[in-house]
This record gives sequence, structure tokens and C-alpha cells, in this order.
Amino acid sequence: MSKDELTEEYNPQKRVDEFAKLEPEFWKHKKLEDLNKDEWEALCDGCGKCCLNKIEIGGKVKFTNTYCRFLDCKSCLCKIYEHRFEVVPDCRDITLEAVREKPRWMPKTCAYWLLDNGYDLPEWHPLITKRAASVTEANMSLVGRNLVNETEVKDYENHIVDWQDL
Ligand code: SF4
Ligand code: SF4
Repeated sequence: MSKDELTEEYNPQKRVDEFAKLEPEFWKHKKLEDLNKDEWEALCDGCGKCCLNKIEIGGKVKFTNTYCRFLDCKSCLCKIYEHRFEVVPDCRDITLEAVREKPRWMPKTCAYWLLDNGYDLPEWHPLITKRAASVTEANMSLVGRNLVNETEVKDYENHIVDWQDL
């Protein structure tokens, strides 16, 4: 197996099962600034939408239906997660600064963006449902969408999408 293939044994529910060790509803009484690493990581719902390519037009970020070549579209996971910043120079770390950047480039369903803007987590978030699959069941992940690998794209402007959840 090459280093950019996901192991077949990968089970996203395993990550969600580990949420049980976290303080219950920590996101309701802790600021994002005060979260520990495990809490911060748990906020990611795994939707994969931050791995869509975007272009900036007229001061606004436009999402496209094209995705980073290292995204596994079945699981919405990065195939090179551990060394992504070395391989993809414009891959962004999800920090509070990145979440607060203007113009907004995180999808508006992203838990980090929601909490930082005074919203609660959506009912389909795995921290609420205790199930990894609830994101896709609510049609909030990239699974099942009309997507194009960036290696096949000639002009990103032809791929701009206006999905409700971006
Ligand atoms: S958009 Fe937010 S919730 Fe979705 S995968 Fe990216 S960081 Fe995680
Ligand atoms: S390299 Fe970055 S943008 Fe590409 S799939 Fe991995 S996390 Fe997403």
C-alpha cells in the first residue's frame, strides 16, 4: 500500500467513541481559546469541506467542487495527514486565527466557525449524536457530491458552487 492510501481498517467511529473521555458538553462552557488538544480535535465533524479548493473574487471566497488531490472522498479524510504541510504548501492548519480570517474560507457548518460566531453545534454533529455517520446522513459531508479531483481541473472559475452549507 502506498503512503497516500488510507488503511482499509480505518474506522471513523473509533475516533467518535473516544469522545466519551472528554468533559461532557465542554464546548458549551469553554472558550475556543481554552480548549485542550483533544477537545479542539473533537470539534472537527470530518465533513471534508475545508479541503475543497477556493478562489477569491472581489474580496469574497468562492468555493469550488474541486478537491485537494490528497482527500479521500469516501471517508473525507486526508491521505497524508501527518505530513500534509510538507507536501501541500497551501494546506492550512485549522487554528483559531484561520477560523477568524476574513474573508471567511471555512464552510459555515464548520464547528469551529459556528462556535466562534456564537452558534451551538448542529444536531448532526458527532459530539451530539455520538456517531460519525450522522454527518453524511445529514448531507453535510462531501460524500455523494459531484466533485472533481483538482488534477483534472483547467479553470477553477468553471467549478464555483453555491451549496447551502458553504
Ligand atoms: S470544515 Fe471544519 S468541521 Fe469540516 S472537516 Fe474542515 S475543520 Fe473539520
Ligand atoms: S493536504 Fe490539506 S487540503 Fe489536502 S486533503 Fe490533506 S488536509 Fe485537505
